Amino acid sequence: MKPAPFLYRRAETLEHALALLAEHGDEAKLIAGGQSLAAVMNLRLSRPELLIDIDRLPGMSYVLPEDGGVRIGALTRHRHLERYPAPLDGFDLLPAAAELVGHYPIRTRGTFGGSIAHADPAAEWVLVATLLDARIRIAGRHGTRTVPAAEFFHGFFTTAVGPDELVTEVVLPAGRDRSAIAEFARRHGDFAVVAATVAFDLDEDGTIRRPRLALGGVGATAVRVPAAEEMLEGEHPRPELFAAAGQAAARGIDPPADAHGDAGYRRHLTRTLVQRALQEATDARD
Ligand SMILES: Cc1cc2nc3c(=O)[nH]c(=O)nc-3n(C[C@H](O)[C@H](O)[C@H](O)COP(=O)(O)OP(=O)(O)OC[C@H]3O[C@@H](n4cnc5c(N)ncnc54)[C@H](O)[C@@H]3O)c2cc1C
Repeated sequence: MKPAPFLYRRAETLEHALALLAEHGDEAKLIAGGQSLAAVMNLRLSRPELLIDIDRLPGMSYVLPEDGGVRIGALTRHRHLERYPAPLDGFDLLPAAAELVGHYPIRTRGTFGGSIAHADPAAEWVLVATLLDARIRIAGRHGTRTVPAAEFFHGFFTTAVGPDELVTEVVLPAGRDRSAIAEFARRHGDFAVVAATVAFDLDEDGTIRRPRLALGGVGATAVRVPAAEEMLEGEHPRPELFAAAGQAAARGIDPPADAHGDAGYRRHLTRTLVQRALQEATDARD
């Protein structure tokens, strides 16, 4: 399969990329790592007249721990997070999630910002952004704006990014002591059929605080289930509690049916994966 013919320009700076976007509007598409866009173009689901290559824009690949949070440049490769050379306090989830993104060559080329902008509802970074209330920085010709994850992801492959804008950075404002991701995929490297991520702090007396839970593959974008989160707050970690939270999560979703499984199967996976992720997060540093 080959894409429809297109023109190609490499942007040298952020300003250059924004100028090209402003000039060509809807006819143009950004390409970063190309690990999602190339497939979409090969299937002719997208036929941009111009590709604007932002892959080598300077100063947009970084992971910066700051004020208890972490700033991630849009061009940071999945692999960089997988093999981040220092402990990322409160963000153990980042290398754990990176490891589950596709295959090794995909992780060396694909970018964090590309995944967020592509907005696949089963993508690990979409899950993490939803779980930890990410703030997504978007640059346009007239300045920069910041959009919270809850308002950024609009649905299947649709986001708040306008046709003349690009994602520059994702800020995760606060991590958690404990976190885990559990997912089920048909084959190693495939997108998950269902994925569950959890994060919480453990008080000195061992009670769960600030629990968060996000699910992928069960809707048009990643979803949180407040009812399941609420039942964890102030409780001591224990298998019965985690089983109940899994049940609550499964009750709180309305999953789609497709070739990979019907709604009942996805609910079953949700129950199991939430329980597993909560237990893994609890056991992580014991
Ligand atoms: C076989 C295979 C398996 C995969 N498995 C997984 C998986 O398990 N989990 C997972 O999460 N992903 C998976 N992926 C996708 C991979 O993670 C991609 O790297 C990622 O989705 C997109 O990043 P990219 O840099 O390659 O973006 P590109 O493909 O270059 O772009 C994707 C889209 O985002 C837009 N875009 C890119 N960067 C920006 C930006 N900075 N601002 C605004 N718009 C932008 C592009 O215009 C395009 O529409 C898989 C891919 C393949 C080919």
